[in-house]
Amino acid sequence: MFQKILIANRGEIACRVIDTARRLGVRTVAVYSDADRAARHVALADEAVHIGGPAPRDSYLRGDAIIQAARDTGAQAIHPGYGFLSENPDFVDAVTQAGLIFIGPSAQAIRKMGLKDAAKALMADAGVPVVPGYHGENQEAAHLQAQADAIGYPVLIKAVAGGGGKGMRLVERSSDFAAALQSAQGEAATAFGNPAVLIEKYIQQPRHIEMQVFGDGRRAVHLFERDCSLQRRHQKVIEEAPAPGMTPEMRAAMGEAATRAAEAIGYAGAGTVEFIVDGSDGLRPDGFWFMEMNTRLQVEHPVTELVTGVDLVEWQLRVASGEPLPATQDQLTIQGHAFEARLYAEDVPAGFLPATGRLAHLRFPDHARIETGVRPGDTISPWYDPMIAKIVTHGATRAIALRALEAALEDTEVAGSVTNVDFLIALTRHAGFQRGEVDTGLIARDRDALVAAAEPDPGARALAVLGLAGLDDPTIRGGVTLWQPLHRTIAWQGGEAVLEVLGPGAARVTLDGSTHQIGYEGGRWWVDGSPRRWRIVNHGAGTSVFGGRALTLAPLDPLDRGGDEAGAALTLSPMPGLVKAVFVSAGQQVAAGDRLAILEAMKMEHTLTATRDGTVAEVLAAAGDQVEAGAPLIRLEEDDG
Ligand code: ADP
Ligand code: ADP
Ligand code: MG
Repeated sequence: MFQKILIANRGEIACRVIDTARRLGVRTVAVYSDADRAARHVALADEAVHIGGPAPRDSYLRGDAIIQAARDTGAQAIHPGYGFLSENPDFVDAVTQAGLIFIGPSAQAIRKMGLKDAAKALMADAGVPVVPGYHGENQEAAHLQAQADAIGYPVLIKAVAGGGGKGMRLVERSSDFAAALQSAQGEAATAFGNPAVLIEKYIQQPRHIEMQVFGDGRRAVHLFERDCSLQRRHQKVIEEAPAPGMTPEMRAAMGEAATRAAEAIGYAGAGTVEFIVDGSDGLRPDGFWFMEMNTRLQVEHPVTELVTGVDLVEWQLRVASGEPLPATQDQLTIQGHAFEARLYAEDVPAGFLPATGRLAHLRFPDHARIETGVRPGDTISPWYDPMIAKIVTHGATRAIALRALEAALEDTEVAGSVTNVDFLIALTRHAGFQRGEVDTGLIARDRDALVAAAEPDPGARALAVLGLAGLDDPTIRGGVTLWQPLHRTIAWQGGEAVLEVLGPGAARVTLDGSTHQIGYEGGRWWVDGSPRRWRIVNHGAGTSVFGGRALTLAPLDPLDRGGDEAGAALTLSPMPGLVKAVFVSAGQQVAAGDRLAILEAMKMEHTLTATRDGTVAEVLAAAGDQVEAGAPLIRLEEDDG
């Protein structure tokens, strides 16, 4: 085993790797950017090395600086985590040339799976079923159109170098093909520097089922499947293992195909073979096709760990340090069921916009496995993936594990940034999902119902008023202090209420025209005669009530003079992100609805449009700029509307 390793990553996955390394007695070296000086992964590691500026290209993508840090600290091996340099074969070569060990597959294996077209061809040769389609060299539009017509619609156009759902277009009719091809090629060229695409049959009612594999460079085993069908725009939201409705025959067929794929490329370490599955008529051993292989540890690996009892990071370290595969195929079994939900800082009602903020309050339940890179008081910065945590549960049956996930999400307390927690809770209560009827279209079909921000309970708002008045603890619980007025108005950003303190452990709150009775008894808040699981938390950003649909009341800002005089003349960045393009220049006339700029945040592009007619007075941002939420981008002439 290694004495010391360097982790070339940040956030939850860096912390995850450090946990196992520590348990194995392996010392750890963290690397960090300017934005991550005070990050959790730096605090957890035995040593930490600064590698550059906050932008990934200035730090976590700088292979040279990372290899130098490993040399300077005497680390013997580098764990790449996921994302960043984890699937970069040139980095693997550089690590090896520096005399260090890359904890992962060989550069050659990564190269073979790096492009989707070459990977599909290789897999077809190895006898692994691949999605029917065209993955050849000829990229002429007329040729690709003819291929699509021959495959039969609907088809999917995919960037061969793609990832994260980018450069992908669903085409329903032949007449739509040419335009979709052009836009997919354009997006692929910008995002990956490679416009090449492949064409695939679009599988109806698709399910995404992937197999975890593990190789030692010659032989491979599989650690069963994960179902990642719950997706939004091709991004995974909740994952589970095993897959609902999986049969022993299909599992055996998929496992065999996945290990054959891994052995065909001499795979070493943890990897995932992703399959698309036709879910329209149950799971059948002839109804799955290879999509791609991810040559790294996957975000959702914890669900596999919980059902198999294997620590995949331990296996990675052991195999990379020269040990044989820690188990044979017949030693591996599945126990129970596991779920993982990805908790993000994002504004769901606003269209899942990534959010940022200082986590004024953060508390996770102790009845779930939590993978996180942040602590209370830490900041979700605009520089990196806004994932706050992965919440992972395990139970004897799928129903138990799913209820455990719902409970764990309800007991997750975050204040200081909006999150997708309510959306995740809504998913755990979705009747079809509860029945195991998953497919990649579920979220899109029921999006409105899932997103509908059900009005927070008025009783919970009343309880929050108590917190805002500073009566959460211990006054109302232990009795009333005499110097407090018995009857007062409490105001916050967006509302006000009248609070009356009635006596020890009793108060009355009137808001929005109705009056709520509040008491504290037996260790719980009672609202309007019913005991509640609600918890009041006062923190730097106001008062929150957790335990149902969370709500936060923010105190009035004494400096807020209200109303921004510039008003509609200014277009502000709605979120932190990268300015991809600016379409206007000073002096230009624009009409309401015209495109002004494109902002990219969290793998997605958002078009900013003019809110009224006018003349552009000033362009305050340029393509390539990294901007904060609220940054002014375009100013129109004041009153030329
Ligand atoms: P997985 O397939 O392991 O579940 P995802 O599909 O969510 O992972 O993401 C694919 C890859 O993109 C992962 O390696 C992930 O780390 C990476 N990734 C996700 N978000 C970002 C980001 N904002 N910037 C760079 N890489 C990212
Ligand atoms: P990425 O590299 O972006 O992860 P994938 O090829 O893995 O791209 O596909 C991502 C998602 O797109 C899948 O999980 C699935 O939801 C959908 N998808 C991909 N291929 C097909 C297909 N042939 N038919 C239907 N859906 C597909
Ligand atoms: Mg994929």
